[in-house]
Amino acid sequence: MKISSLLDGRKYARLALDLRGFLRNTITLEQSKQLLSARLQNREKNFLSLVRKGIYGNPGSPYLKLLQLAGCEFGDIESQVNRDGIEAALQKLHAEGIYVNWEEFKGKKEIIRGGKTFKVHERDFDNPFLESYYQVRSSGTRSAGTRTQFDLRHRSDISYYYPLVLAVANALDAPMGIWMPTLPSITGISGLLHYCNIGKPVSKWFTPVDENQVQASLKDRLALRYIIYAGRLSGAKLVKPEYVSLVEAIKVAHWMADTKKRFGGCSLTCFPSLMVKVCQAAMENGLDISGTHFFGGGEPFTEAKCREIEAAGATANPRYWITEIGFIGCSCRRLPAVDDVHLFSDSVALIQHQRKVEHADISVNAFLFTSLMTSSPKIMLNVESDDYGVMETRHCGCLLEELGFKEHLYNIRSFAKMTGSGMTIIGSDFVRILEEVLPQKYGGAVTDYQLLEEEDERGQTSLCLIISPDVGAVDENEVKDIVFEELRRNTYGGKLAAGFWSQVNTLCVKRMHPKSSSGKIATLHLMKR
Ligand SMILES: [Zn+2]
Repeated sequence: MKISSLLDGRKYARLALDLRGFLRNTITLEQSKQLLSARLQNREKNFLSLVRKGIYGNPGSPYLKLLQLAGCEFGDIESQVNRDGIEAALQKLHAEGIYVNWEEFKGKKEIIRGGKTFKVHERDFDNPFLESYYQVRSSGTRSAGTRTQFDLRHRSDISYYYPLVLAVANALDAPMGIWMPTLPSITGISGLLHYCNIGKPVSKWFTPVDENQVQASLKDRLALRYIIYAGRLSGAKLVKPEYVSLVEAIKVAHWMADTKKRFGGCSLTCFPSLMVKVCQAAMENGLDISGTHFFGGGEPFTEAKCREIEAAGATANPRYWITEIGFIGCSCRRLPAVDDVHLFSDSVALIQHQRKVEHADISVNAFLFTSLMTSSPKIMLNVESDDYGVMETRHCGCLLEELGFKEHLYNIRSFAKMTGSGMTIIGSDFVRILEEVLPQKYGGAVTDYQLLEEEDERGQTSLCLIISPDVGAVDENEVKDIVFEELRRNTYGGKLAAGFWSQVNTLCVKRMHPKSSSGKIATLHLMKR
C-alpha cells in the first residue's frame, strides 16, 4: 500500500471524531454488568444476525462456499439454533465440514472440502460491516502476526469487560501501568484506550520494544502519535510509551514499588514472561511489590510462571486473548488451575473437537471459535485457532458466574509443532523441561531458557537451546543429555525425536539472551512460517 493512501485524511478525521465519542463515555461497573448481561441474553440473536448479514449476505465469504457445498440454508441454522442452541448448531456444522483451521483462516492454505478446493485470502474473513481506520497486527508468537482491522466500536464493546475484570481482582482502585509493545502490535495502544474508556487512564506505559527494533512503518508511527494527541485534545489522559528493554525489568519493578508506596496499590498489564521478570527484579533488589496485581495473557500461563509471581507477593490474573477475536476470558483466581479463565460466552461461542496433530503421535481437544459480537473485526464460524485445552462448567461463586459466565477454560496450550531433522514433536512437551527441569538443575529463571527453532540456508531445521549468560557455568553436553532423557519420558514421539536428535546433533546449546519478538519471551521460539 502506498503512503498516500495510508494517510487518507478522511479516515483520520473520522478517527478523531470517533475517538472523542469513545473517550467521552466512561463505562462504570454497573453499566458493564448491565451490558454484559444483555449480550448474554441476546447471544442467539447476535449470532444469527452475524450469520445472515456477514455470511449469507456477503458473497465473498469463504463460509458461504462451505455452507453451499453442504446444502445448508440460513433457515436450517436458524431453526436449529432456536431449537438446540448455538453450540449444538456449531457441532452439526462442524460435522458437515463447515470450519476453517488457522492456516486457512490466515489465507496460507487452500480450503479443501468435499473434493473441492477454495483459494482464500485472510481479508475474505473480515467483517464487511466494520468501519476500519487501518490494519494492525497481532503479536502472535507462532507467526508473523495476522492482519486485523482496528475499529473503535469493537474497542468499546470490549471495554465493557474491564470494570468487571478489575472488580473481580479487587483492583479497581489501583493505579495501572502497562508494559506492552507499541504499534504495529495492537496490544499497547488498545490497553491504553480500554483503561481510559473505563475512567482509569494508564499512569505509565512502558514498551519492551522500540519503534526501530520492530521496524515500525511511518503509518504506525504517525497513527500512534495521532491517537495520543487527538485523545488528549478530547481531554483524555493518554500517556506516551517509554522504552524499557527486557533486561531492564528493574525499572518497571521500581515504578511498581514506588506507586504502591504512594497510592497503596499498583497493577501492571503485560505478557506473563514479563510479569516474571518484574517480580524477579523486585525480589533481587529488595523492592516491595507485595499486594500488587498483574494482568495479562498472550502466551501460556504456566505453574512455574505463577510461582515466580506469587513469590514476590503479587497476584497473577490471567487473561485469554486472541487479537482476531478479542477478549475471550479472564480469571477469577478461585480455581485450582493457574490459567483458569471464565469464557466470555456473550461474545464468543466455543466448541471442541478431538484432532490429531500432524507428525506427532498425539491428539488434542482443539478449540473452535465463533464470533458473536457484531463489531468483531473478523467473521469467525468454527475457526480452529491452534489452541487446545479443557472446557467445563463449574461452580465458583464469583461475580462473573453470577452474571452468567459459567464455562471455564484451563490448561490452554498451543499445538504448534517443533521440528528438527525431520522429526516433529509437539512443542509444549518442551515447556516443562525449559521451565522446571533446567532451572531446578542450573538455577536462573523461567525466562532464562528458550528453545529456538532455526532454519539454515539449505532449509535444514535445527533446534537451539538458549541459556542466558545470567545462568552460571553449564556443561553443554550434560544439558543435552538431560533434555534427551526428559524427552524420552514423553510417550508422544519423544523417544524417537530424542534418538534422532542426539545422533545427528540437531540440538545445539547457545549462551545468549533469549530472543524476543514483540516483547514476549516465549519458551518456544518457533520459526516464522
Ligand atoms: Zn469465578
